[in-house]
Amino acid sequence: MTTLHDMTVAELAAGLKAKQFSATEAAQHFVARAQADMNPGGTGSFLALNPEATLAQAQAADARIAAGTAGALDGVPLAHKDIFVTKDFPTTAGSHMLAGYRSPFDATLVQRLADAGMVTVGKLNCDEFAMGSGNENSAFGTVKNPWDGSRVPGGSSGGSAAAIAARLVPAATGTDTGGSIRQPASFCGVTGIKPTYGRASRYGMIAFASSLDQGGPMARTAQDCALLLSAMCGPDPDRDSTSLDVPAEDFTASLNADLKGLRIGIPKEFFGEGLAADVRAAVDGALAELTRLGATLVPISLPRTELSIPVYYIIAPAEASSNLSRFDGVKFGHRAKDFTDLESMYKQTRAEGFGAEVKRRIMTGTYVLSHGYYDAYYLQAQKIRRMIADDFQQAFQQCDVIAGPVAPKVAWKLGENANDPVADYLADIFTLPASLAGLPGMSVPAGFGNGMQDSETGSAKPLPVGLQLIGNYFKEAQLLNVAHRLQQATDFHLRKPSGA
Ligand code: GLN
Repeated sequence: MTTLHDMTVAELAAGLKAKQFSATEAAQHFVARAQADMNPGGTGSFLALNPEATLAQAQAADARIAAGTAGALDGVPLAHKDIFVTKDFPTTAGSHMLAGYRSPFDATLVQRLADAGMVTVGKLNCDEFAMGSGNENSAFGTVKNPWDGSRVPGGSSGGSAAAIAARLVPAATGTDTGGSIRQPASFCGVTGIKPTYGRASRYGMIAFASSLDQGGPMARTAQDCALLLSAMCGPDPDRDSTSLDVPAEDFTASLNADLKGLRIGIPKEFFGEGLAADVRAAVDGALAELTRLGATLVPISLPRTELSIPVYYIIAPAEASSNLSRFDGVKFGHRAKDFTDLESMYKQTRAEGFGAEVKRRIMTGTYVLSHGYYDAYYLQAQKIRRMIADDFQQAFQQCDVIAGPVAPKVAWKLGENANDPVADYLADIFTLPASLAGLPGMSVPAGFGNGMQDSETGSAKPLPVGLQLIGNYFKEAQLLNVAHRLQQATDFHLRKPSGA
């Protein structure tokens, strides 16, 4: 039998149903691996464990399996990005502001996965309030890329991607505001999907930019993502006002559909000068494989791709500046000890609680919303956001799905952009357009690069490259189908970093 940590979600679910091992055994195995990884030399993926709670969940799953009342994913372990609030584990959002915070309720997505029987191993590191592209903005330490410990895992769901690649969990939740599921999935060689905005509830996901934030699953295979996403989606009208009235769906139903006749749009703006040669080669290889499977490639244009950077970095900070006003030292989280009056308490609390990147965003956001600048920046950005969404609808008249790179280069060195936050922003160029349009997008392992183009000290270690697939609204099943067929024909998703 394959070791438990090398098994996919689908394999674990089957093994549990066949009683080859129990949910308790699986939970013990993964908790032990996570505990070992929390020692020096580990990836830094986990922020919190609660073995007692995990084992209690596993025992409940075993009881359901024994009684024959098990759900589809009963007993399968997973971990949650620390941006989802959880009753059984502390929730920090990667911020000192929430150190020690314990939520009285579970986020809807946490609840839905638990309802499907999944067992929570713990909480995963992320950029502070999900703001970042390398997981270097967490208040609780950086995360190492399991493929090369001197490199970032991507962000902001860096702990989720690294934990899956390092075989610490078979699956995890992530959130994607401007690429935070797709880009770390790409950098760590795992699979992740951000559904259509509004398809999965935002309730209990600590808000960054509410018109963009969307949770989704990350795992090693498209099939596993389909299994989790089927449990996560569906309306949550009483608790999330932007949750859409679109029923849940069985995303595994069409995984094996034939790709013959599928038109894949190739946006020329995604293949310009800024794209590293090693990334391009891997993406081209995956596209060639898809054509062998019957798809045809259609040249398309997304003319406002470049504008997605300034547009996103106006709208997201604007919403963040409003969302983060709740952290004032009164209602929850950190409160400064030394203050003289109410105003100094607010100021001191926020000065102590937030990290540099979060403060930068609050300042930018407050500025673009302020009187006199609102029209020039925020309103203008909203107009262009609409045009970006329209460009996609134009493109979808010529093709069924859109494909390209997830990021312009492979995972960069830890600390490489420490004095240049804008360098991180620019690397988001290929994920931001779909986020601004609210479209579903995913990252599928497409091959490996070596990072030589981007760093003089580039190592010869293989570094994963993801293929990005973008679909029209509610076409998650189609994206998962394309990804699954690609994974039937390739083995990039099965390779593992040395030591995992
Ligand atoms: N890198 C982007 C940012 O820093 C996206 C983050 C995300 O999707 N949460 O805002």
